[in-house]
Amino acid sequence: MDTINTLLAFDTNYILVALLVLFFMLETFFNRSERVGSKINHLINNGLFQLLAIAIGSILGWMAVSTFSWIEANNFGLFNLIDMPYWLKITLGVFLIDFADYWFHILDHKSPLLWRQHRVHHSDTHMDASTSLRTFPTELIYFLIGELIISVLFGIDIMSMSIFFFILVPLFILHHTSIEFPAWVDRGFGWLFVTPNYHKVHHEQDQYYTDSNYGTIFIIWDKLFGTFKFKPVSEIKYGLKEFVGPEKQSFLYQLRSPFLSTKKITEDHT
Ligand SMILES: [Zn+2]
Ligand SMILES: [Zn+2]
Repeated sequence: MDTINTLLAFDTNYILVALLVLFFMLETFFNRSERVGSKINHLINNGLFQLLAIAIGSILGWMAVSTFSWIEANNFGLFNLIDMPYWLKITLGVFLIDFADYWFHILDHKSPLLWRQHRVHHSDTHMDASTSLRTFPTELIYFLIGELIISVLFGIDIMSMSIFFFILVPLFILHHTSIEFPAWVDRGFGWLFVTPNYHKVHHEQDQYYTDSNYGTIFIIWDKLFGTFKFKPVSEIKYGLKEFVGPEKQSFLYQLRSPFLSTKKITEDHT
């Protein structure tokens, strides 16, 4: 348990930077056709969003720590009413946090107001590991609220939340890397996890596919609730039609974009 605690106490920003450097090198090595200059430019535009995330990090941390301290002090939530082994409580907690993210992600797509913040992540027309950084800051607060609501209701332990993020950080980078993954990765892990090939379908320009594969860590919710779709990565066109063009891909344009009335361009699938 001590080893787990030491690992979980490690600042995720260090892990994030180390993984981004590693994936940048791997992507450059495996995808020789990608120009390093444009890749660095892409990394800077997306990486600036991470600086905003770090800026609001203390607010997010305070929200999480005070909520979990309150749950513990008051012995609140369903899990605290039932006698169950600690490992089961922690495992169920990880799945429930992911379950909350699934529904909040769907709401992000369905509500026109929330879509304005969420489309920043979807608008990237060139997918690589740095796309994982492209998240509008309010979205981090939005998802955290969802995770904390379910934590209060079920009396989830802070350890579940820590494990959730410990899995999520590397997996989320992996979801967006431009490295190609063979079909056996989907066959081997895709019964439980959102694989990179599955998450990339979620980034397809065609809204029929954009509105699918909402899972964060686990794909089971999509398979259970009928939102799972598949398209080979080689046929996927990334981004959103309304955000195509270099001027619309810059950090400053993206930062302004939630406040712009940009009409959704969709395809008819009827
Ligand atoms: Zn989405
Ligand atoms: Zn994504």
